[in-house]
Amino acid sequence: MKSIIEFPKVSLGVFPTPIQKLENISRLLGTNIYIKRDDLSGLGLGGNKVRKLEFLMAQAKAEGAEIVFTTGGAQSNHAMLTAAAAGKLGMTPILLLKNRGVTECRGNLLLEKLMGTDVRFIDTDDYADIYEEMDRIGNESGKPYFKIPLGGSNALGTLGYVSCAEEIRDSGIRFDHIVCAEGSGGTMAGLTLGAKLFLTGTHVTGMMVDREPFEEITVRLMREAADLLEADLEISAADFDLLDMCGPGYAVPSEEGNAAIKLLASREGIFLDPVYTGKAFAGLLKMDSENKFTPEMNVLFIHTGGAGGLFAVH
Ligand SMILES: *Cc1c(COP(=O)(O)O)cnc(C)c1O
Repeated sequence: MKSIIEFPKVSLGVFPTPIQKLENISRLLGTNIYIKRDDLSGLGLGGNKVRKLEFLMAQAKAEGAEIVFTTGGAQSNHAMLTAAAAGKLGMTPILLLKNRGVTECRGNLLLEKLMGTDVRFIDTDDYADIYEEMDRIGNESGKPYFKIPLGGSNALGTLGYVSCAEEIRDSGIRFDHIVCAEGSGGTMAGLTLGAKLFLTGTHVTGMMVDREPFEEITVRLMREAADLLEADLEISAADFDLLDMCGPGYAVPSEEGNAAIKLLASREGIFLDPVYTGKAFAGLLKMDSENKFTPEMNVLFIHTGGAGGLFAVH
């Protein structure tokens, strides 16, 4: 098997991110709840996409790209962070965003305006149309270009969260459960693959915040990332658990999610976001209410960021 350090990476963030114990929430739930602060990952307003982009932008650079394309919803944290990373590395980002979500100049769209990012809205429901449009614009420009998929979730991006699992192992704390939000799948797939490789006995649960076939998506990304690593593993949906926390829809706040945001804000001084981490933490509270955690367990919540959304989605 290859080691992750054999894969080229550009430095964009600050790692390892801290792991903190949520003392007040732990007391409240009667178990040990920790948080991994990937919201403090050190680029833009932080977030999980920074780990993926360190690998993806290295590939863009190696291919000599001058333009970097990506896509997502109107308030995509991934698109905003891709623009930030491209600017930092001297490449030109072009974002082709779907109309879905808040399209006013707030939240991540405001941050993109501050960066002077070329943002274009594409009126389609199909990402295949968007990737085609990237090729059309790229070819027309006559410049070398690189396409980053939705959420940075391909095999290479997934390695970002395999390496996060290595970081968790190196913290020296043994976790019974890891909980994260699942939107495009790379974070969950990387953590689950990383747990299989480096964290024996740690169970990973993904909190689904969209309506996609996440079981298939997660298994596929795990297998593709394992292939990159030349890791010989049996991978199946039995490796992880999923919980539907989407509520009224993707990027539509849920009551449980909003309650979780207020709980962490008031008790711990930590801000979750309405699209991903609020709903994911609500999932952790649901697991607790179903007695999934015992007093001696250690549970790790991955704070995947999303601060921009707090100022756009209510
Ligand atoms: C993208 C994102 C997620 C979901 O991660 P995936 O790897 O796309 O599943 C979770 N939280 C935040 C804040 C995000 O921006």
